[in-house]
Amino acid sequence: MKNFWDHKKEIGSKLSGSPGILLFLDFDGTLSPIVTDFKNAKTDPAIKQRLELIVALDSVFVMIVSGRKLEYLKEKIDIPGLNLGGNHGLEWIINGDYNRYPFDNNINRSLDAARKIYSELANKFHGIFIEDKSLSLSLHYRNLEEIGEEEFKDIFDRSIKPIKDEGILEFIAGKKVIDARPKADWNKGKIVNMLKERFPDRMIFAVGDDTTDEDMFKESPDGITVRVGQDDASKAEYYVDDIADVNRLLDFLHQTLTRGPNQ
Ligand SMILES: [Mg+2]
Repeated sequence: MKNFWDHKKEIGSKLSGSPGILLFLDFDGTLSPIVTDFKNAKTDPAIKQRLELIVALDSVFVMIVSGRKLEYLKEKIDIPGLNLGGNHGLEWIINGDYNRYPFDNNINRSLDAARKIYSELANKFHGIFIEDKSLSLSLHYRNLEEIGEEEFKDIFDRSIKPIKDEGILEFIAGKKVIDARPKADWNKGKIVNMLKERFPDRMIFAVGDDTTDEDMFKESPDGITVRVGQDDASKAEYYVDDIADVNRLLDFLHQTLTRGPNQ
């Protein structure tokens, strides 16, 4: 993995040489610090300001793609003209139009069963929070204290096994969170592909910090892919250190697109 800033020059010329950019940004851990209570996530004001400037540029299509639900994203980062993908890409707003991945009855039934088990676990263990996002579920265990993480994961695996075995849902472990979502062959990467088809000339620039962002990185072999936090197992080509570094990156992007690569 390469440090983004060590390759600033070549990235700058790649950006300036491209007829347009498709900018995909994750939310938690990328634009917003990861917080103890997931409901309190906030977009860094400096980052919001930078994003506003970038959204205003015709040459950039900006989309936030997050595991959160759309309403949550709209509340946390309300910028006119900003495109949003929620629920790991299962629903999206592009140019103001809402759309979603269609669910069949099996998906709905399995999700209901998972919902029940998630809430049973939340009732049983103090410090577990369930984020019900309609199309997917997140179980947050950052505040779990009474048992260890490994022990909890074992209990989780055992409880969820019958539903997992049906093969309709998948359970994805992220940072102190386990998401339940349909095995729908539809993820953040598919959103990237959908936009790639719509804007074939534009270059992809994708930034994210967690497991589900790897789906975006995989679909962007010719683009610029940046992981927040170095991880050599990642498919991203570059890394930046943290959210403050994402802010610098957005500034660099804005400067490069408005003034050219040699600013
Ligand atoms: Mg994230």
